[in-house]
Amino acid sequence: MTGRLFREVVLPERDPAERFDVLVEGREIARVGPGGSLAVPASATVVEADGRWLLPGFIDDHVHLREPGLERKEGYATGTRAAAAGGITTLLEIQNNPPLMVDRAAVEAKLAQVRPLSVVNIGVYGSLVRESLGHASEMADLVHGYKLFMGPSTGGIDVSGDEVLRSMFREVAATGHWLFVHAEDGDLIAQGIARHGPDGARAFHLARSAAAEIKATEDALRLAHDEGTRLHVFHLSSGGALELIRDARGAGRPVTCGTCPHYLYFTHEDTARVGPLLKVNPSIKTAGDREALLAGLRDGTVDCLSSDHAPHTAEEKAREFPLAPSGIPCLDIFMPLCLTLAERGALPLTTVLDRAARTPAALHGFERKGSVAEGFDADLVLVDPRERRVVRGAEHFSKARQTPYEGAELIGWPQLTVVGGEVVFARSPEA
Ligand SMILES: [Zn+2]
Repeated sequence: MTGRLFREVVLPERDPAERFDVLVEGREIARVGPGGSLAVPASATVVEADGRWLLPGFIDDHVHLREPGLERKEGYATGTRAAAAGGITTLLEIQNNPPLMVDRAAVEAKLAQVRPLSVVNIGVYGSLVRESLGHASEMADLVHGYKLFMGPSTGGIDVSGDEVLRSMFREVAATGHWLFVHAEDGDLIAQGIARHGPDGARAFHLARSAAAEIKATEDALRLAHDEGTRLHVFHLSSGGALELIRDARGAGRPVTCGTCPHYLYFTHEDTARVGPLLKVNPSIKTAGDREALLAGLRDGTVDCLSSDHAPHTAEEKAREFPLAPSGIPCLDIFMPLCLTLAERGALPLTTVLDRAARTPAALHGFERKGSVAEGFDADLVLVDPRERRVVRGAEHFSKARQTPYEGAELIGWPQLTVVGGEVVFARSPEA
């Protein structure tokens, strides 16, 4: 059995002042003991960590990799390598370009194509569109949930109309899975564009407004309550929608939510200054919304940090603002972005690790992931907390190398990423 002994690591989720030895055997974490206490088994590789952090691989439950269909923008070979470099050992992907995941045959064909290309653990969501009606249960054992776009976004696959939505909520409830929703109201967005102009950078957040997110979140909460559906709201961008979710949870409803780094690093004023690289759905909102989302992460109302990695070509993102597609690539720098929030004091480190690893593991039923503990899967990331690096998009594995974070100095860069006991990324040979 292949083995790897990480000697003298710090496990920040346990105790930032103590050192531990962590022994990996096969695909599992076999032993965790005090630093210097574990003997080196024959044939084991030893990693002298000397106080570096050993972290649970992050579990990113909102990724777009465009394969099959739009491999010129991204694919599983490049996307999962970007994930490994960015500290993600499990990703769950949403197909939002044709062919959508409307039935069992579509999901099987996709998994057969992309599994052999992947270097991290992967899973997919079923699509909720008119064509998928009646097909949710047949794919239930192949998917990690179902994704519904309640507003216009990439791919033009939004669904509206209360009766159609209601039947989708009912269908998902019968599978026992969570329903994952992109919550923006199409009518309010259309009214916003009529009032504030067509998609200009300065007016973008006013057209794709907080009110649109709040209205769709209200509708989703009502339908989920009526139909007994477990609801997760993806990529929250406004304090108003967060309040609705806080109230629903306070009432004991099965409702969870997530947000993404771009809503925590930027405001709409940055969008106006930077341009299409920060064009994303939902739009980036105000400094007040950003503070509310950070508070929600701290108090546990926001369960998950996810990347919403949404790759487009450099040419597409270089268009004028109204013509540029929405979406920000993120996989290559996901862990550094999350850990730097802790380094800057925006969030406690333990909260970051919880929202990016432990809670998404629990939410998605990965009982042996999300933590560095005996018996858990050996999905691990070695980080030197003293190392600072500058974001250089040209170095990224993703095909989408244009990034609004270009030049930012971050901490938390994976030096070694291990999935199921195997090294899938090493930043330098001596790591
Ligand atoms: Zn998305």
